[in-house]
Amino acid sequence: MEKSELIWLDGRFVPWDEAQVHVLTHTLHYGLGVFEGVRCYRTDDGRSAIFRLSEHTKRLFASAHILSIEIPYTQDAINEACLEIVRRNKLEECYLRPLVFVGEGEMGLSATSNPVRVTIAAWPWGAYLGDEGVKNGIRVKTSSFQRFHVNTMMTKAKAVGHYINSILPSREARTAGYDEALMLDTDGFVAEASGENLFIVADGVVKTPPLTSVLPGITRATILTLLAEQGIPVVEERFTRDAVYIADEAFFTGTAAEVTPVRELDDRRIGTGKPGPVTQSMQEAYFALIRGGKPQHDAWLSYI
Ligand SMILES: *Cc1c(COP(=O)(O)O)cnc(C)c1O
Repeated sequence: MEKSELIWLDGRFVPWDEAQVHVLTHTLHYGLGVFEGVRCYRTDDGRSAIFRLSEHTKRLFASAHILSIEIPYTQDAINEACLEIVRRNKLEECYLRPLVFVGEGEMGLSATSNPVRVTIAAWPWGAYLGDEGVKNGIRVKTSSFQRFHVNTMMTKAKAVGHYINSILPSREARTAGYDEALMLDTDGFVAEASGENLFIVADGVVKTPPLTSVLPGITRATILTLLAEQGIPVVEERFTRDAVYIADEAFFTGTAAEVTPVRELDDRRIGTGKPGPVTQSMQEAYFALIRGGKPQHDAWLSYI
């Protein structure tokens, strides 16, 4: 990981190596915390812009609300801190990690008096599933771990503890020689990957699982808009893993993974095994958009 100079911690800018917490930090023990993954890109005119910053901040607050965590800042203050951490670190392109966590104090589970702390780090980070993956597609394995039931964890919260349900599938897939895991929901239908939403294309129609058991991805929402703009029909409905096997195309979306083609699931080639026309068109549209190439969506870019 490439260090930058400063990290925003509880309203202050502190040197990277000094952004420390106590070992009795509540979140460290029980996983009660929420976070975001946000990207800042260098746009075509040379300025840098954070993509869909206010939507990420809004989701951060929604995640906290779901877990009954009261964030001691306004959304505006968090947005401004995100812009400022990029400015002060003089980063042209970076990944931002806002994190809300419960500090030290009581060790009991309810721990209502512990301080709610917020940090925002930013550092340079390239293609999450690799440049090669973005270009030629990745190999995916259906996980032996299911996406958690909607009454086990809260699917609309991007929560720290939930990520055990992402790390186990991700490690399992990588250990077995695949790039990423696909999780099914507790009814056996396709849900999502460890940190990405899935789209498939079959007979000219794009399908993505409904939001019932998946994280409401901001990239997913962006792709739904881009598909509509191109007049490509899309439905949000449940489908099975074998629907992915026989699909013409499949791709993952996420802030970290951007738009990554899936070329194989469970050792079965998807379509031609190469990024298909809809996937390529979505990659082009997305990469143009984040670099300021779509003036109708300028509101999605927060310039540094
Ligand atoms: C963050 C995340 C995504 C992707 O969401 P984006 O807003 O597109 O970055 C998808 N699935 C899970 C489980 C996630 O945590």
